[in-house]
Amino acid sequence: MDRLKAGLENDDIILVDTTLRDGEQTAGVVFSNQEKIRIARMLAEIGVHQLEVGVPVMGGNEKACIKKIVGLGLDCSLMGWNRANIEDIKHSLDCGLDAVAISISTSDIHIEHKLRSSREQVMESMVKATEFAKKHGVYISVNAEDASRTEFDYLVKFALAAREAGADRLRYCDTIGTLEPFRTFEVVSRLIEETGMDIEMHTHNDFGMGTATAIAGVKAGARFVGVTVNGLGERAGNAALEEVAMALKFIFNKDQDLKTQMFRELCEYVARASGRILPPGKPIVGDNMFRHESGIHADGVMKFPGTYEIFSPDDVGLERQIVIGKHSGSKAIMLKFREYGIELTEEEATDLLPMIRRATVEIKRALFDKELVYIYEDFMHKKYEKGIDFSPINTD
Ligand code: MN
Repeated sequence: MDRLKAGLENDDIILVDTTLRDGEQTAGVVFSNQEKIRIARMLAEIGVHQLEVGVPVMGGNEKACIKKIVGLGLDCSLMGWNRANIEDIKHSLDCGLDAVAISISTSDIHIEHKLRSSREQVMESMVKATEFAKKHGVYISVNAEDASRTEFDYLVKFALAAREAGADRLRYCDTIGTLEPFRTFEVVSRLIEETGMDIEMHTHNDFGMGTATAIAGVKAGARFVGVTVNGLGERAGNAALEEVAMALKFIFNKDQDLKTQMFRELCEYVARASGRILPPGKPIVGDNMFRHESGIHADGVMKFPGTYEIFSPDDVGLERQIVIGKHSGSKAIMLKFREYGIELTEEEATDLLPMIRRATVEIKRALFDKELVYIYEDFMHKKYEKGIDFSPINTD
């Protein structure tokens, strides 16, 4: 809770991680209690301000685990997710959480077809639930589910009623991920202008724009961003913690003072716990972020990393790697062999290059260290025998 307070006082952008709630709602994903606890610990250590840790009204194991997380005494605010009714909120209070999210759909399509209710009833349920939570002194986010498909005037009324009832912020949910950055900027700017409320962006990635729309909301004045590790979440997932945090720091110059060096470790852990591999091309933490193969890029990075890297591998717990493959140049080959303690002359590297290229095309991938050394041994062997050309293994 203190970290949340400090963040609010310092005008920080507040990250709200919902890996343990929206992330676990991903079809097919279940975390064990131990995994949940470990994830919560890591997120708190990294410095995330608020964690949405689950749905207390589910009871049983879910509620027991939430209580355990509360008992850890982590240096962050812990929030429970609730529908807009008093029963749900009682379960959150029972867990000792300091914050509640009170969620209800505001779009007509949801009100009519899912809730089979009316705008008036939605408003009434939200107000009653919010007033009840307020009486118990917890921090309150009122979540407008499907906000991005909600009629704007109704959304403004809903937000003002929420504030009147005691809400601390409004969660603007792009529940099905139909926002794009330009429209987000417009709508969120207007919403802030007309309500003066603190806004949390909760965006989904159905069109691959989860992070972009979250950031567009921040640019429009939203101070809270809902995120999940690896962008885990319903369907195509949510805005990713590691992407939002690094974009805020390196593109928008808004450093949240997080231990970003732990990102790779955290993302790998959550990938394993959710039974999904971390794709090599995953922004920020994928293996390929700091792997360079093409001759021009490898040469640039060796001379000055800033030529092809926007931040340092240390910043996210990765390592730079020069990969020797079809597109490698002789400079990269020299550097690679130096890693093995072999100093090649430029001439040797130039002679080795066609052999390496042929080998990579033959096996259709980059070479392992061992394979490179075999090619080198083959090369040296032939070099000291007369009249033999430099063709690689299995020539056609
Ligand atoms: Mn969601």
